[in-house]
Amino acid sequence: MKNALTISIVMIILTFFILILLLTPLLMVLGFFNSSSITDGYILQNSQYADEYKITLNQYIKKEEGYVSLERILYFYQSNNSLTFKEIYEDNLDKESKKMIPISKICKMDKYKELNICSNDELDKSNQIKEYQDKPFAKPINFSSIKSISSFFMEERITFGEKENHNGWDFAAPALTPVYATCDGIATKVSFPFKANTQKIGSNGNEIVIKCDSSNYIVTYAHLYPNSNKIKQGDVVSKGQAIAGVGTTGNSTGNHLHYQVSLNNKLLDGMSLVDFST
Ligand SMILES: [Zn+2]
Repeated sequence: MKNALTISIVMIILTFFILILLLTPLLMVLGFFNSSSITDGYILQNSQYADEYKITLNQYIKKEEGYVSLERILYFYQSNNSLTFKEIYEDNLDKESKKMIPISKICKMDKYKELNICSNDELDKSNQIKEYQDKPFAKPINFSSIKSISSFFMEERITFGEKENHNGWDFAAPALTPVYATCDGIATKVSFPFKANTQKIGSNGNEIVIKCDSSNYIVTYAHLYPNSNKIKQGDVVSKGQAIAGVGTTGNSTGNHLHYQVSLNNKLLDGMSLVDFST
């Protein structure tokens, strides 16, 4: 009788551990442990890093020094959080080309080479090894004239009580700050029904969509100033051409450009494509 009881208890404990083992990967996928999940160049669970990242980002972007992704910063920060975001940003930026330095090079630096994530095995596993070295786009706005980057790509935020990941970049800037075509292409949508900059109904407000030539990139500019469009639907545009001005029409709380890029219906990190060297 006593033996049967002991066996039952052992069985219950074993079953419990087996269940935990089986459920752990599922819970991790569901984000139960709130570890940051990395997806094609961006980090989905990022609310705890958002403020510090934006402070750092603003320092470098407003001086047009170049872009380093949050994914890249967290790659190092999460394995050694005595490093600061600013320090990692600085280390990962090539001053000449204004591009991110390939991660294999960073991992040769004394500061980083002992980190576990810099072992060859870990580097091979990481999608960080796929660098965004190709920079086909011009700047959508003169970054030195913006007030701040108010929201980054895939930033976790609460909109109307719903948690969402922001599908583009928000650049806060004075009304009518010029907005530029980032590629050669055709304007597939130039929609300016909003006649007052304060008009708030409708999500994207006044909007321009450009389909880039020789690639399937689709670029969206939202919340534009009433009647500020310098082009009409169907127009051919060239890279660097001024197309409209910043506004706050639609679902927007202040003058800013919402800039969004997609390729084959998949959202992309538009800043990773910008050439800062020109
Ligand atoms: Zn936005």
